[in-house]
Amino acid sequence: MSDIASLLDRAASGGRLTYDEGVRVYREADLHALGAAAHARRTQLHPGDEVTYVIDTTINYTNICNVHCTFCAFFRPEGHAEGYTMTHEQVLERVKFAADQGATQIMVQGGVNPDLPIAYYVDLFRAIGERFPDVDIHSLSTSEICGIAKRESMSIEDVLITLRAAGLKSLPGAGAEILVERVRKRISARKIDDDRWIEVMRIAQRLGMPTTATMMFGSVETDAERIRHLDVLRELQDETHGFTAFIPWYYVPFKTPLKGKEATGLEYLRVLAVSRLYLDNFDHLQSSWLTPGLKLGQLGLMFGCDDMGGTILEEKVVTLAGSTNTANRAELEKNIRRAGYRPVIRDTYFNRREYPLATAG
Ligand code: SF4
Repeated sequence: MSDIASLLDRAASGGRLTYDEGVRVYREADLHALGAAAHARRTQLHPGDEVTYVIDTTINYTNICNVHCTFCAFFRPEGHAEGYTMTHEQVLERVKFAADQGATQIMVQGGVNPDLPIAYYVDLFRAIGERFPDVDIHSLSTSEICGIAKRESMSIEDVLITLRAAGLKSLPGAGAEILVERVRKRISARKIDDDRWIEVMRIAQRLGMPTTATMMFGSVETDAERIRHLDVLRELQDETHGFTAFIPWYYVPFKTPLKGKEATGLEYLRVLAVSRLYLDNFDHLQSSWLTPGLKLGQLGLMFGCDDMGGTILEEKVVTLAGSTNTANRAELEKNIRRAGYRPVIRDTYFNRREYPLATAG
């Protein structure tokens, strides 16, 4: 057995890869062998024929942002004529639209808007909770949390405790990009650094708020830096066990100040597979169809993924960067079925949900 084959063999049965081994596997493994190992690991973790998805929406409540990431076509700087912030009623209308379609997860997420006091979020989350008690508020990036803390001169912990009391249940992993300082300085120099991202996640998880973890790849990072990102996440997960899932996605360079080449489908599959193998302490790997599209998202189910993400009924950040992909429940279910699996609706915390499927099995 070759050296790489024996590494894949070990990882496929749940053994841990070192950082150097992860880099080697990522660079050198044959894609089919890598995919087979990731699929074996996924099947070991999730035997049976289920693939989950969540009915959710993303509400981009403000595009005003003082961070100015170069990969972002969504934000407008403070004072810009095209800047907007939704009123609570406008957000609530969108929550209603989603809840009427069975959504249980609402992601309120936007720019780091220095004009918004913490009361904006407290009142909004309370109103959502009162009107839509079945909806989980899975919202705000680490950057937004830090922006609120700075504006209010509060600690991260106090911000999270205040927002949790208002109804914030969990945090999405947004804003991670690549957790390597060299990369962050090049693509988002004004954003919180990697240590701060980890700190916010650690505090949230310690407070009992589950979070997801993401990776936005395909900008200026090297292969080794992608593995370093996974390594940072794996280390924190060893400590907290607070991440529910990992969601790698690639950046769309079409309308953003940072130009580049869109990642290829093969690269996407390679990232999924190595993520499944390297993150031995993560339960779930999500095939995020928003940038690669549904067909490639479907293929991701053969490369280590056990979850198809969400319906994302409304989203602007990735769409404004040039992504044209959309999906409804029927399409998600059809793609899951045609990959040989049975679609199952879940909630934010990966609990099965008794809710009728959109399509007959
Ligand atoms: S990615 Fe987020 S933090 Fe960065 S500029 Fe866009 S809205 Fe602001």
